[in-house]
Amino acid sequence: MKIILLGAPGAGKGTVAKLLTAYDGSVQISTGDILRGAVKAGTPLGKEAQGYMDRGDLVPDSLIMGIMEQRLQEDDCKKGFLLDGFPRTIPQAEELKKLLSKLGIKLDMVANIDVPRDVILDRLTTRRTCSNVECQEIYNIKSNPPADGDKCKKCGSVVIQRADETEEAISKRLATYNEKTAPLVGFYEKEGLLKTIKGTSSEVVLAEIKSALNV
Ligand code: ADP
Ligand code: ZN
Repeated sequence: MKIILLGAPGAGKGTVAKLLTAYDGSVQISTGDILRGAVKAGTPLGKEAQGYMDRGDLVPDSLIMGIMEQRLQEDDCKKGFLLDGFPRTIPQAEELKKLLSKLGIKLDMVANIDVPRDVILDRLTTRRTCSNVECQEIYNIKSNPPADGDKCKKCGSVVIQRADETEEAISKRLATYNEKTAPLVGFYEKEGLLKTIKGTSSEVVLAEIKSALNV
């Protein structure tokens, strides 16, 4: 399947993407994970992106499009892909449209995961992420705590709160979402690709995506 997962930070895009990957082998492409990997590795891309990310601002469209143009042409995308965290602005959506038509790729749908704001806020402030870039397993101190307080159950690395998951950066990210990303709902509605799914459970979201695609 070739899908865009749309939704506020904390809506569960990453979790749903992982479930879909396990289901049919489509590859999850998370621009956030790619950027965090670049920051950790200290690449020029990472150096340029870090300041924006720590403040909860968006990274410039040109940097993101450079990453995605390359990524979508890699072999593993042939089986299908789940775009998680991209596109995030109208210019990115317009550029993506051009890029996909150039590559001869047709999207199956845009799944808009709609979760109430109080649920989102609670999830983001209790979220912890494995500090190992190769792993990045996500935990929740209430519903899915790491081992011994702060150890990743998969790889044993320390589990941390992301710099952009302080209260201040979180409200900034949500404001940025409402201003820059929420307009994509209208964009993809016009394209005839949008399906809005109200769901606080990732399993329910998964089931609705599968049934919309008849798979
Ligand atoms: P979130 O939990 O906010 O969805 P992500 O892991 O998707 O977080 O992204 C983390 C940060 O990386 C964002 O706050 C932003 O700075 C940057 N980022 C990720 N994807 C994009 C994108 N498509 N365009 C611009 N910035 C991006
Ligand atoms: Zn880990």
